[in-house]
Formats: sequence, structure tokens, C-alpha cells
Amino acid sequence: MKSHCPYCALQCGIELEGSAQTPALVGDAGFPVNEGALCIKGWTAASLLRHPERLTSPLARDAGGALRTVGWDEALRRIVDAVSGVQARHGKDAVGVLGSGALTNEKAYLLGKFARVALGSASIDYNGRFCMSSAAAAAVRAFGVDRGLPFPLEDIPLAEAILLVGANPAETMPPLVRYFQAQRKAGGALIVADPRRTATALSDALHLPLAPGTDAVLANGLLHVLVRDGFVDEDYVRARTEGFEAVRALCAAYWPERVERLTGVPQGDVVRAARLLGQARTAMVLTARGAEQQAQGVANVLAFVNLALALGLPGRRGSGFGTLTGQGNGQGGREHGQKADQLPGYRRIDDPAARAHVARVWGIGADELPGAGRSAFEMLDGIGSEGGVKALLVFGTNPAVSAPHGRAIADRLARLECLIVSDFFLSETASLAHVVLPSTQWAEEDGTTTNLEGRVVRRRKAFDAPRGVRTDLEILGALARALGQGDGFAFESAQDVFEELRRASAGGPADYAGITYERIDREGGVFWPCPSQDHPGTPRLFTRRFPTKNGRARFHAVRPAGPAEAPDADYPLFLTTGRVLAHYQSGTQTRRVAELVEREPEPVAEIHPLLARHHGLEAGDTLRLSTRRGELRLRVKLVPAMRQDTVFVPFHWGGVQSANRLTNPALDPVSRMPEFKVCAARIEDKAVSAAESVERGVA
Ligand code: SF4
Repeated sequence: MKSHCPYCALQCGIELEGSAQTPALVGDAGFPVNEGALCIKGWTAASLLRHPERLTSPLARDAGGALRTVGWDEALRRIVDAVSGVQARHGKDAVGVLGSGALTNEKAYLLGKFARVALGSASIDYNGRFCMSSAAAAAVRAFGVDRGLPFPLEDIPLAEAILLVGANPAETMPPLVRYFQAQRKAGGALIVADPRRTATALSDALHLPLAPGTDAVLANGLLHVLVRDGFVDEDYVRARTEGFEAVRALCAAYWPERVERLTGVPQGDVVRAARLLGQARTAMVLTARGAEQQAQGVANVLAFVNLALALGLPGRRGSGFGTLTGQGNGQGGREHGQKADQLPGYRRIDDPAARAHVARVWGIGADELPGAGRSAFEMLDGIGSEGGVKALLVFGTNPAVSAPHGRAIADRLARLECLIVSDFFLSETASLAHVVLPSTQWAEEDGTTTNLEGRVVRRRKAFDAPRGVRTDLEILGALARALGQGDGFAFESAQDVFEELRRASAGGPADYAGITYERIDREGGVFWPCPSQDHPGTPRLFTRRFPTKNGRARFHAVRPAGPAEAPDADYPLFLTTGRVLAHYQSGTQTRRVAELVEREPEPVAEIHPLLARHHGLEAGDTLRLSTRRGELRLRVKLVPAMRQDTVFVPFHWGGVQSANRLTNPALDPVSRMPEFKVCAARIEDKAVSAAESVERGVA
């Protein structure tokens, strides 16, 4: 059975054989994205199907507060009683829903419909708010539409120069690296802007080691050189864009010496990088979470979009601007209505025409549709305060680990009148829940996902789920029926849901109307927008015009603001967070895979040897790292390629190992993205030696 990896947005093709008890998994050599290659996460994904910690029956709290096994009927009754009671006392919006970029398109779509139709609540958002929201908001502002990569991956080797900003695919999606290797083999140049010299930057790439939070300064500085040295594609700028003159004037103030002072990147390298981009006949600018997960994430992305527009890249083969989506269905998950301000098809919820169209498909009046809700962090942070949600349904995400200022968020979750979690393991969030619903895993269900290129692919059911487990689609249908709203949720299959999604998305920016399961099977995936069944799909966007009102892309003059919390006398270091090869997101799955745990058993703090020496630390010692929000004890890894003022901590662990206990919940004013990637930190003086660490166990 052909399917796709459950983890990241590359959605590598996989072939499954055997049974759920003894599954065999290989990479699908026929799927063009990975041609059989997988990373270690993909290789080991099937080991979770019959994992001993798998949830196989619903759980609910007993009178003593312990979670105990209950039947589905009791679990659903408890949820309906809690939801109805909360809504009767506090209003419809007091019941919230938190979705995920890990859900299939069908689940994401049905979750949005469930919140707005069955619950009648505006309070829905999803964990992509912590992941893709800044890139998405910037793309909509600049290009009129947000598709992470507006071109297929096969274009990457055609680029003579690529600037990769805050991305580390060598660890986060290793099969993607072969595209960059092909680009290098063809003589192309790779420039990597990242505070860390990551595995991606370790090759013979030109590494720009910018200080965390200075991304937009670097972008403005690169554009300064492009303008100064005559590399701007004036014809393209004149014919296809607007707003460049303000940007040209602003960038005049970002000369290389000043950029070096502000970012730490040597001025010679700023000039070299700009010239590599400027001299290339084909070039790409690609951003990822490093630049985006900041309180000025939208501005950062827009500053790099400016570079691509000035060089005339978007819409040309082998060239363009793109962002590397992270989660498995991070692209589709942001298109079909689980976002607080959106309806299916990437429509705006405040657009009267969009409301009328979707309401018609859903068989309700447009005035019955709620308006925009609060963003994910604001919904979570508002728990316990006036107007905050009192009950929350969580599907496929683990905010107790993944939200910034995690300890405060875990406390808030514990204060809910009712927390309901659908998951296949007892995650840190599920362990706080009043009711836990056991759901199917990727190889046990049908559906579609949309990968980082905008290619819609099929997830296929290969094995039956363990007895007692249900799909999220079945759970939502049963809940809607129990709430007396079953009419709009009587779907027989995932394909039935997709058929309705096609109609709901028709005419929207992310138009799936022409995509069918049969076409995906036949064509190996279909790129949206695809408005009709005789439309070929759209691998490359922007070739003739941008989907803005006047068909032009927009420049934005970006005045960098710096991080919300800069280092100071009390907290003199930067803390930045990210991923490691062996783990994925909050680690609910990968921390249960023996091979992955063996590789990366715990979070370690990466610091420069000189910083370590300054604090009397050696490799393997345990340091105490604190920010204004908390403290962690972490084993030390010495990394000579780190900046001396920066500590890196991966975020895949929970409880006392959770990096997000330290992160700053400052939000981007547009995208409401928290500032995961930079805050002020310090290493406390009293370290714990390596020998003591072993004796006491870390943390
Ligand atoms: Fe899965 Fe991503 Fe690894 Fe591919 S790169 S195997 S999609 S985790």
C-alpha cells in the first residue's frame, strides 16, 4: 500500500507491507519528491502502530481525579454534558477547538465546520499559528496568496544561487538535501543565513552567522548592495511590482559596515552573498522558522521577499521566493478553515462573499457563521480570564509542550472546566485532560495531505486500527450527532468529506474543485489551484500575474525592530530553539521510538567552547539556563561553530526538559506568531559537573 510519511511537510512517499503487528516500510521509489529516500523518522514511523503505550480506549477522570478507562458512549456523554453546560453558562464561544497541521485536509476541514456549525463557536485555531502563520501572512501581503513553495522542488537544482534563511533541512528534512546537492553539483552557490553553523551550513555553503532577531537588517543590507551594484531587475520591478521606491530609499541606510555592526555578519560576506544572488541568472530566496518565529516574523519574511522581487525572481523557472513548510500537512492545514480567521479554500472569514459561499455548502445561513476567533496563543493564554474559553477540544497537538511560556500554558490548561484531547498517546496535554479519545494513526486511515510544494497527495489506509480506536472524522461525526447537529456530519468516508471540501474550496485562493482521489492516484498528486477536472493543476504560480487586485506583487519597506526581549545586563545571552534530526515537534511520537531516543535521549544546550570556559563548564556538564520565565538544567554540548553569545536548545521534550518553559510569548502584531526563536537568557553560575549529572540524572 502506497502512502506518505506521517511527519514533516516533505510528505515522503512510503510503501507499507505486512500487518499492523509486523509492518514493513520502505521509501516509495516512484514518488518524485523523495524517490525512495527517507530520514530516520520516516524509517521508524511504523513502530508506533502497535506501541505498548498506544491508547485503545477512551479515558475520563473519576471522582478522585484519576484518568480511568471508559466506554465511547460515556466519553461522548461526558463531553456533550460539559460542552452544553459551558455554552449555556458562558455562551457559544466559551468552547474552543485547537487543531493541527498534522491533520489531513479532511480532518482540518471537518474540524472547522464542527467548531462553527456544530458548536457555533468562533473559538477555533490551530498549531500552525506557532509554525507557518508569519510566512503565510507575508505571502498573502506580497503575492496575494500563500503557497509555501510556489514552484515544484524539481526547480531547486536549476537555481544558480540560493539563499536559505533560518532553515536547516539537513536535520529537519534530510531527503530534501539531495535537491540542494544537485544544485551545488550543477555549479550553483548556496548561502545559509543562520545564527548556528548548522549541518546545512557546514558544507561549502557561504554561512552568514547573523545574531538572532536581526534577519530583516541582513535582508535590507543585501538589498542595499544589490541596488548599489546595479543588480536590480528594473524591467521586472516596473512591469510586475509596486512599492519599490520606498524600499530602495529605506535600504540606502543599510550599508555593509552598519549591517556587520547590527548582525555580526562580516561586511565582506554581506557583499559576497548579494553578488552571488545578483550575478546568478536563476536564484531562489527560501525562508523557514528561524526568520519567521519572531515577534517581527512577518516583517522579516517581507524583507526577504523584497530581495526576490528586486531580482525579478518570482514566476521564473528555477527562481523564486518560497518558505519551507514544517508540519506534515502544514500547507493543507492552513487552507481549509481551522484557522481563526479563515474559511475553506483559504477564504477570509470576514469576506461576505466567502461567508455566503461556504454557508451555502454547509446548508446554513451566512449570518449563522461565527466571525473570527482568537489566535492559538491568545486563546490558550485567555483561559481563566474573563471571556476566555472554559472548555477546549484538542486534536492532534500538544500545546503543553509546544506553546511558548509553556509552564504558564500548562497551568491554564489545568484550569479548564473541561479539556478534551484526541490523540494516540497520552501526551503531556492529554495527561491534563478530563476526557481523552484514542484516535487512529496515519497508516490506519484514508485522507489527503498537501505537501510543502502545494501538491495534494493521498494517505491510504493500510492496516486496521486496534479495536477501540476511532478516526477523528468518526469522532467529530459522533460528537455532532450527540450535540443534535448530526445532519451536516453524516459522511461515510474520508472521500465523502473531500468531495464536500472540493465544493467549499471552489473559487477560493486554494481551489481544490478539480482534484479528486482518482486524479491523485492517476497523476501521483495534483498541485492547487485546480479549479476544474480538466485543469492540469498549477505546479508553478505567478508566471504571468500575481493574484492581487492589480496583478502586481507588493514590496514592503521594513524597518527592523529587533527582538521583543534583547539581551541585557541581567540576561546577556540569546536563547534560540529548534529541531534535531531524530525528533519531531513536541516529541509525542518520536520520544516513543527506541532508535530515535537512543540517538537523542534528551535536550542538550549547544554553546561555544569559550562561553563554556567563561562559566567553568565542560562538555557533558549540566548547566542551569534561565530566562525571565523559568529555568532548565541541560547537559552541555560544545559547538565551536556557535556564536559565542547564543545558546541553542531543541524543543521536543516536555516537563522539566521543555525549552518552551523559557521562550517568550511576545506575538507578531499581524500573524500572532510567538517569538520562539529569540529571547534573553543567562547561564547561572552554579553548574553541575558531568560526574554529578550522571549520578543525579539530568534535570
Ligand atoms: Fe518523513 Fe519528513 Fe523524514 Fe521524509 S523527511 S521521511 S516526510 S520526516
